[in-house]
Amino acid sequence: MTRRVKFNVPTLVGKEFAYIGEALQRGHLSGNGHFSQLCEKSISGAVGGGRVLLTHSCTAALEMAAILSEIGPGDEVIMPSFTFTSTANAFVLRHAVPVFIDIRPDTLNMDETLIEAAITPRTKAICVVHYAGVACDMDVIMDIARRHGLRVIEDAAQALHATWRGRPLGSFGDFAALSFHETKNVISGEGGALIVNDPSAAERAEIIWEKGTNRAQFYRGEVAKYTWVDVGSSFLPSELTAAFLYAQLEDGVETTARRVAAWNRYHAAFGALELSGRIRRPVVPQDCGHNGHIYYILTNETAQRDDVVKRMSEQDVAAVMHYVPLHSAPAGLRFARTPAAMPHTDDLAARLIRLPLHPQIDPAQQQAVVAAVTAAVA
Ligand SMILES: *Cc1c(COP(=O)(O)O)cnc(C)c1O
Repeated sequence: MTRRVKFNVPTLVGKEFAYIGEALQRGHLSGNGHFSQLCEKSISGAVGGGRVLLTHSCTAALEMAAILSEIGPGDEVIMPSFTFTSTANAFVLRHAVPVFIDIRPDTLNMDETLIEAAITPRTKAICVVHYAGVACDMDVIMDIARRHGLRVIEDAAQALHATWRGRPLGSFGDFAALSFHETKNVISGEGGALIVNDPSAAERAEIIWEKGTNRAQFYRGEVAKYTWVDVGSSFLPSELTAAFLYAQLEDGVETTARRVAAWNRYHAAFGALELSGRIRRPVVPQDCGHNGHIYYILTNETAQRDDVVKRMSEQDVAAVMHYVPLHSAPAGLRFARTPAAMPHTDDLAARLIRLPLHPQIDPAQQQAVVAAVTAAVA
């Protein structure tokens, strides 16, 4: 059965095939070639500077950030539990301990007022997640980090072309990780990037990226031969992926504008349902310039959420939940620490529904979604 309204449709925006053809003609298919470098320049421009290294996923970029932050066994990293597993896994792989704190009821982002109480002598870093491309309070978070000597890593998987007080997300932390997974705004199937904002870490980042070798320096003619100099892994995507991604990046601002337009149509259409107390709409604070990555609604109760998702599915409209909070997941119980109660995370995660949103969705399909939600919560 093909759905009347799909949740996501990976969308070609322009020159993807032409650039893949060009990459083949250039005869360099492994990583760090012509298109990888074009992508890195483009991303660096979009996030306001910083050394950018293309990776095969956001997960890989987070793993690099964990190594570069020198996170080791027993170290603690403060993060939200309302996030994807990779945010936590990147540090668990270094034998560190994710320390989960609750989220804010308005944005569903890490509650910055809870960070300081969670700091211990083992705390090394804060890993923020900008949920739905809506920024965390980066002024407060950067100030706490500075005062306590902590690294800041931005899981900016959902946050390309979003801003905090006019400044691009991904430009605040020592490191930031982007995702180009097919469900994100700008895509390459699987894909990601590490943004290195700490210039003193840029050289080591290249080495970790290139399997622990100084091959990038060798290519630039800076060393006579390349050799094993540090830990590392294979974090590079191929030029075929980079060629596809470059076409997507060229169109990134337009894609974002299309998503924000669709987001705004939902938001206007659901105003009345919110006023009558049937649902809650997303809250975007004044300081946040969002990128239309996710449109979600919150029902009043969990049972109602499950019922709404089921009824929408019966009408061929795909609506989905989001994260099962990591603090209550089996691996979260095993690897992480949750120092305080998580009332907002538990409550909000259980009432959230994500609605179909992608560059090809049209107003008629969105009307069908709105009608299905309206009927289901009546
Ligand atoms: C998508 C996502 C990831 C993982 O991205 P990949 O590119 O699939 O590795 C990590 N964190 C968050 C918050 C995400 O949304």
